[in-house]
Amino acid sequence: MRRHGIALVISAPSGAGKTTLIGRLREEFPHFGYSISCTTRAPRDGERDGADYHFLTRARFEELRESGHFAEWAEVHGNLYGTPLAPVREMLRQGQDVLFDIDVQGARQLKQSLGEAVFVFILPPSLAELERRLRGRGLDSEETIARRLRNARAELREAAWYDYLVVNDDVDTAHDHLRAAYVAATLRPLCRPDLLRALEQGALDAAAV
Ligand code: 5GP
Repeated sequence: MRRHGIALVISAPSGAGKTTLIGRLREEFPHFGYSISCTTRAPRDGERDGADYHFLTRARFEELRESGHFAEWAEVHGNLYGTPLAPVREMLRQGQDVLFDIDVQGARQLKQSLGEAVFVFILPPSLAELERRLRGRGLDSEETIARRLRNARAELREAAWYDYLVVNDDVDTAHDHLRAAYVAATLRPLCRPDLLRALEQGALDAAAV
């Protein structure tokens, strides 16, 4: 019997290293499906429409939102972001595990609607280190850095309700911890239908394990 897919929801303040860690997780577990979000922000260099995001106008986004297209949506740093519901539901139904890279407001909505999801929050080792990393990227103006730091403080207050907290000080350790959270999720009884059935029937054998 095929198990239902696991929704692995990952949030982090900007600059905590989430993109790197998600990239490493997807490299190690290529079977992961990825929820491609819609956004109203402009594509960055190298980003592809339909692969990194579906890039939409605000009017189109709002139209889709009104039609119930999104499992969740939020305004982040002045742009709208949303998770299309249908592809995610289909991947999970087919037993595929799905990664979500979404902000804390969206994660909270999924906590209500996707009861079985696993929520991981990636933290920087300190706010000072986060600031150092944001400046080091050389991507953002002073004003943007100040706004990202303000947002980070607010986001960090939400971390306590997540299932797992991964501190990204050393990236190899953070990767180990993130993969451990995922592997632990796959070991839950609800993800082992064959094993449960075998146990019920008193017929535990190698095939079920
Ligand atoms: P960026 O514009 O840097 O790619 O993403 C900015 C923030 O938006 C990140 O925190 C990212 O996790 C969040 N985000 C990306 N897609 C979605 C989405 O579909 N829903 C929500 N709520 N947040 C998203």
